[in-house]
Amino acid sequence: MLVLQDLTGGIPENHDMQDIPDLWQLINNLLEEQASICCSKHGDGAKGEREEDSGIISNHAYGILRAVEFRDRGIRLVQIRNPWGSGVEWNGRFSDGDSRSWAMLSDRERSMLGGGGCDPTEKDGTWWMLVEDLKRHYSTIGACRPILRLDRWTRHLLVSSWNKETGCGGQLHLNPQVHLELMGGGRGQDLVKVLVCLTQVSKRVSSDNLGIHPLICGGVEKVGERVLKVTGDSRLHKMDAYTTSRNATVEIECKRSDFPLCVVAGVFGGGVGELASGAREANFEMSVCVKDQKTKMVLVGGDLPECRVCKKALKLPWVEHDGGVIVHSKCSDAYKEQTADKCLECGKGLVGSFYREDGGKVHADVCHERWRERNADKCSVCGKAVLGSHFPVDGGKVHDGACIEIHRERSADKCSSCGKAVMGSFFTIDGGKIHDGACIEAHRERTAAKCIVCKKAVRGQYYDIAGKGQCHVECHGKLK
Ligand SMILES: [Zn+2]
Ligand SMILES: [Zn+2]
Ligand SMILES: [Zn+2]
Ligand SMILES: [Zn+2]
Ligand SMILES: [Zn+2]
Repeated sequence: MLVLQDLTGGIPENHDMQDIPDLWQLINNLLEEQASICCSKHGDGAKGEREEDSGIISNHAYGILRAVEFRDRGIRLVQIRNPWGSGVEWNGRFSDGDSRSWAMLSDRERSMLGGGGCDPTEKDGTWWMLVEDLKRHYSTIGACRPILRLDRWTRHLLVSSWNKETGCGGQLHLNPQVHLELMGGGRGQDLVKVLVCLTQVSKRVSSDNLGIHPLICGGVEKVGERVLKVTGDSRLHKMDAYTTSRNATVEIECKRSDFPLCVVAGVFGGGVGELASGAREANFEMSVCVKDQKTKMVLVGGDLPECRVCKKALKLPWVEHDGGVIVHSKCSDAYKEQTADKCLECGKGLVGSFYREDGGKVHADVCHERWRERNADKCSVCGKAVLGSHFPVDGGKVHDGACIEIHRERSADKCSSCGKAVMGSFFTIDGGKIHDGACIEAHRERTAAKCIVCKKAVRGQYYDIAGKGQCHVECHGKLK
């Protein structure tokens, strides 16, 4: 394909057989445009050419000459040619010697395929095969389209280079870009064919090659002003991988409403850009071709919008926030913090996890702890925030543990004898409480009748002396 490209100045393209949605359509389109088409089969591991059981030689390029369909019979045939013009041939269905397949066609139909081809004696390296078999037995198909010679296509050519500013290690929005406007006078159909071929100049397959990738994006707002959104939703085609081949070709059918288009000569890192010491320039050519429409190509200049946060030009990776606000990826957190709701506790922006509280939000962890502490009910005993287990008391709360102990002691009835809180067992005397033990003893001693002899309290056995009072048994002898 590279040779064809060099010889014809045509637009090259390459496809993996398995990635082609409609191989028959593709081949017919290419033939209609007088493209040179070839196909080949990758050998299993082996590098050199090798004959497979099917008669096809792997790692060898074959030409595709014609495509003929017998619609009533559901037969679609492709004519293949070995450029050697001789040698081994395909030996499967519709091969030269396969009379059973050929018997399915009438003489008239066979004659449509021209002389030769189906003659088993003629080893001319040319044969017919079903398009299904082509898909099964070959792995790639490539073509070179002579678009310069076809008057239905308009071709714009950009010859330029990637350098430190525009290569930048995969910052696609910095890569060279052009805008394409529809002019009046083209054909009025709704779908427009656009083909972009990006070529790294003077490079054949080499480890030195860059990863390249043309991108086509729709809906340019201001022609000539750099479009940043060259990935994601605005992409009109799905070519995800970069190729280190000399050419990367993308063809799409887009709507008229997708215009103006933005076409980017995408390059992925690899020595261009950020590696200051190894930075090098790399030249490229980009053909932008449009079918049946008059178009104007505008080269986009270097002015970049600035980051909303740091106010520097958007040379680094960037992200878009709500409302189309664009900031560097590294400035994104700062932007989120600037615009986020503020924490009720520390007043800073809420970017991480947070709790919803009355009247707003609070950062999780430290701020939330502090906020709860500030807003919690206070312990009636120690005055500190009540967050854990606690007891409700009249008009407030009291911590479990030491605080509730203190509270109970304070609010308990007092002992009529010692004046201290009555917590344990007690006696009720004259509506008051008295501790069991020493206090009730002391109370009884105080309130007992006094001995008329020794004047001490009378406890235990005594004599009742009529008209005088009580007296201990042991004091009775001293009675006068
Ligand atoms: Zn910034
Ligand atoms: Zn906070
Ligand atoms: Zn407390
Ligand atoms: Zn007491
Ligand atoms: Zn006594």
